[in-house]
Amino acid sequence: MDTKEILHKLVAFDTQIQHNTLEAVNWVRNYLQNFGVEVSLIYNQDKTRASLMAFIGDKNRPGCVFSGHLDTVPADETFYRGRPFELHYENGRYYGRGACDMKGPIAGFLAAVPELVKAGKSAVLLLTHDEEGGFQAINQITADPDIVKFLQNQQNCIVMEPSDLKAVTAHKGTRLLEVSLFGRSGHSSRPSLCIDAVDAAVNSYCHLLGGFRKLAENYGANPAFIEPYSTATVGLFNGGEAINTVADRAVYTLLSRENPGDDFEKFFADIFTDYNSPARLEIKQKLYAYAFKSRCKPEFIESLSRGQQPQAVNFGTEAGFFEKIGLPTVVFGPGNIAQAHTKDEYISAAQLEKWTAMIPEI
Ligand SMILES: [Zn+2]
Repeated sequence: MDTKEILHKLVAFDTQIQHNTLEAVNWVRNYLQNFGVEVSLIYNQDKTRASLMAFIGDKNRPGCVFSGHLDTVPADETFYRGRPFELHYENGRYYGRGACDMKGPIAGFLAAVPELVKAGKSAVLLLTHDEEGGFQAINQITADPDIVKFLQNQQNCIVMEPSDLKAVTAHKGTRLLEVSLFGRSGHSSRPSLCIDAVDAAVNSYCHLLGGFRKLAENYGANPAFIEPYSTATVGLFNGGEAINTVADRAVYTLLSRENPGDDFEKFFADIFTDYNSPARLEIKQKLYAYAFKSRCKPEFIESLSRGQQPQAVNFGTEAGFFEKIGLPTVVFGPGNIAQAHTKDEYISAAQLEKWTAMIPEI
């Protein structure tokens, strides 16, 4: 099968993040096994989802890891070009949900597998199932000691996210904090009998954001990024029931965008340790993506980017997880991130062919 045929197949599987990728995973497994490739599936705890790991060539000889995700962001029938799960070709572009992010790059790799096998090259394919929904799969994989040991022995890792075939060597990390405040409600004419959760939420928010900004300033600017400092923003803020009632509950979210090297782990762990509030404070923390800075050798980066300057980008990927376990990683793939997650998502056919042709040389 060529890249287009494989992409057609992959797009047809509805792998929106609210569903699962099992059908697509099984298809990829069968495809690879036809070429004698060893494949293992890594299930999540309740076995409703699976990641795929495939070993092309000699498993004991280090090769390059090609990493991707089979899930996509949601799509609906209002796609104005064709239908989301039916690959549509027009003016040198393939349209469809996931065509760019990132079934196109995966299709290119799969199309190159017969050639890799024939040439006796070693490579590893690693496909996760929830990159768009919380990074649980990559968390699970990089917490498994046997897999980590195996990955640490490989030469490099390419996260095949759409980067316009330019090497991405840094991106920010993302962390979400959900802070809930529980007080005591009552009539607004008797506030002394109440504990105002909204008031407590505002105070805790100022405490949190003030501390974050101070630390970000201490770490300093990173000129590689458009937003040079680590930043944090409040996304949702909810509280209150009526204009004349003191609220007993308020909740807000804070999303941080952390520069590589700025260590906010301890900050978020400690920020409320000595904080006093009349309301009860409950915090849920969720790490989406580690900040990423590539440790690949410049020669390897250059062999991919071929004269184009390496870039720092604003979107997050699984790359930081691989770097964290000591596998030198770069983000590199066909397609432009500007087309990912859009209603008329597409990938350039020419770029996809170029990518497929590059793989046996990596
Ligand atoms: Zn992606």
